[in-house]
Amino acid sequence: MGPDSATAPCEPRGDADEVAARLRSAGLSPTRRRRQVLEAIEHRQRPVGAHELYVELARRGHGVGMSTVYRALSALAEAGLLHAFAGDGETRYRLCTAGRHYHLVCRRCGTVREYPADDDGAWLDRIAAEADFEPDPRKAEVQGVCGSCLRADRNGTDG
Ligand SMILES: [Zn+2]
Ligand SMILES: [Zn+2]
Repeated sequence: MGPDSATAPCEPRGDADEVAARLRSAGLSPTRRRRQVLEAIEHRQRPVGAHELYVELARRGHGVGMSTVYRALSALAEAGLLHAFAGDGETRYRLCTAGRHYHLVCRRCGTVREYPADDDGAWLDRIAAEADFEPDPRKAEVQGVCGSCLRADRNGTDG
């Protein structure tokens, strides 16, 4: 209930500073919970659900409630720091870098990579012009199979 910042220790460490700065530049106050959630999620290549993150935070010794994790995740996603992937029943989140990019989503292993929109989103602009629909470039997902899954397949079938 109370504000997280009231009891947050002031630790001027490099990483913590960077996380706090990122939250501020996205227009969010860097509460301890948001920082913990962002730190726990930032190195993951696969989108993570709220429950998995909750378990990890508990393992790290952060006593964070599920509803707090949900709130932190949706605040971070709304601010554009995380990308929310609608999955089978559960929304999963992954760190999102700034700038226009697409998300390459492997349907086998679930890994997500960002791919810069070098064409400045020309095909999305074409959709906007021709299909009476305005796509959001930062939400653009390309579903497919990643290189390591393809190679694993080949090795498996070729013997
Ligand atoms: Zn992204
Ligand atoms: Zn894969």
